[in-house]
Amino acid sequence: MAATVQTDIGTLQNYVGGRWVSAEAVESQEVRNPATDEPLARVPLSGAADVDTAVAAAAAAFPSWRATPPQERARYFFKLRQLLDEHREELARLIVAEMGKTLDDARGEVQRGIDNVETACGIPTLMMGYGLEDGAARGIDEEVVFQPLGVFAAITPFNFPFMIAFWFLPYAVACGNTFILKPSETDPMVQQRVFELIDAVGFPPGVINLVHGGKDAVNALLDHPEVRGISFVGSTQTAAYVYARAAQTGKRVQASGGAKNAIVVMPDANMDAYLSTIMNSFYGAAGQRCLANSLVLPVGAAHHDARERVAEAAGRLRVGDGLEPGVELGPVVSATARDRIFGAITAAVDEGAEAVLDGRQVRVPERPRGYFVGPTLLDNVRPGTRAYREEIFGPVVGMSPVESLDEAIAQINAAEYGNAASIFTESGAAARKFRYEVETGNIGINVGVAAPVAYFPFSGAKRSFFGTLHPQGRDAVRFYTESKVVITRWTGGDRGTVTGVGR
Ligand code: NAD
Repeated sequence: MAATVQTDIGTLQNYVGGRWVSAEAVESQEVRNPATDEPLARVPLSGAADVDTAVAAAAAAFPSWRATPPQERARYFFKLRQLLDEHREELARLIVAEMGKTLDDARGEVQRGIDNVETACGIPTLMMGYGLEDGAARGIDEEVVFQPLGVFAAITPFNFPFMIAFWFLPYAVACGNTFILKPSETDPMVQQRVFELIDAVGFPPGVINLVHGGKDAVNALLDHPEVRGISFVGSTQTAAYVYARAAQTGKRVQASGGAKNAIVVMPDANMDAYLSTIMNSFYGAAGQRCLANSLVLPVGAAHHDARERVAEAAGRLRVGDGLEPGVELGPVVSATARDRIFGAITAAVDEGAEAVLDGRQVRVPERPRGYFVGPTLLDNVRPGTRAYREEIFGPVVGMSPVESLDEAIAQINAAEYGNAASIFTESGAAARKFRYEVETGNIGINVGVAAPVAYFPFSGAKRSFFGTLHPQGRDAVRFYTESKVVITRWTGGDRGTVTGVGR
């Protein structure tokens, strides 16, 4: 039976052992619409007792879920995929209401999440092992099988409140593990809705659980001895912390962190063809994407043209409530984020950057209480300054001209982060040099947002990723399983004749 859940201004509930339950924790915080500042719900800040209950439910569900054949497990995801598809518009609108991105952006996010559910439906093939007769020696066969481990937890950030949970949940669960999601406390409502759909699918109780909260819930998950592994996405500071703390109890961890992604614009770039993808990579989701490009390195003569075109296109972007038709740039997620971004623009100007477009001046008369930052373009951002090095996570782009492709690559490789980098050029040789030498996990060639699709790993390097196996696709399947090697010998089996059987 499908359970009901409060999504108005009531307090959200956890979903544990197949039931909606109120968190034991007494503390909660408000979820607000960033375009209007209206309160939408309260989210409980679950503590160790709530996490203990969820882990116990997930641990109890594991033996029988593990024994459910992969093809049967996949069937639950076919059904979930169907329900998500039927509710895609409602889910996209919820994302806009609590996070602020435009409706088109949110629709794209929903599609990317569903793509991962579809990919996980192929789990029988994805999880298959391999073997070799006489692999160890004559008459001794060797094979590897991949087995689930137990309870996994995922901790996700605010900027893709729907999609990022699906980098993990479908793979972990389809592999035969049981699972706890701890979504961002900033915008947890869309996952509450997703879990109503999960409930309607009818997964066995305890297989998938939802625990709302902030750092207390995270710490309890990181320390719990029965949690076998942690998937994390968020800022680098939190990712590094999660990686180190979870490892103390021997968990496997994959932790994606922050970014400062650069694009290199070569003098031969086809800006007529690619300006719109570049603009989307700067200002889409108000710059709150881990793959947002926030640094432009125009090479030589490319500088003037790139600056003029970006300034002109950015100046035309319509800022407003993401639910309004025609709006291209929504608010940032919170008043705190807006104030932090304003501070970063001020600091950049103080450090010598030129504000070609200054988003601090933006006004949205029809949404006077929204947390808006206008499109910002800073030129002559010098290496070493904060605006050059630090993730601003807002619609703020810094331009820093360079003399050569070598200089651009050296600058990118000197950075702390290694999430993504893109090059715009018509030269195959320049593109090849770039992809070969640049030390980021994701590379775009005439592509603004270098976002891997579901059946590829969502990569990341240096302080943008802690761990070995990345989210999505085959990497995720390997992360959520242990390889077991079986070496078999039967007396007489090496002669190819069997006597004494069947009598
Ligand atoms: P965040 O680090 O503040 O929060 C992420 C999660 O960690 C949340 O669930 C939060 O409750 C929890 N958390 C926060 N502080 C904690 C603490 N001190 N102890 C324990 N848990 C804590 O990140 P955010 O602001 O929600 O997300 C934005 C960041 O995520 C950006 O830096 C962005 O680049 C990054 N991000 C990275 C990727 C990627 O693939 N590399 C993808 C999306 C977002």
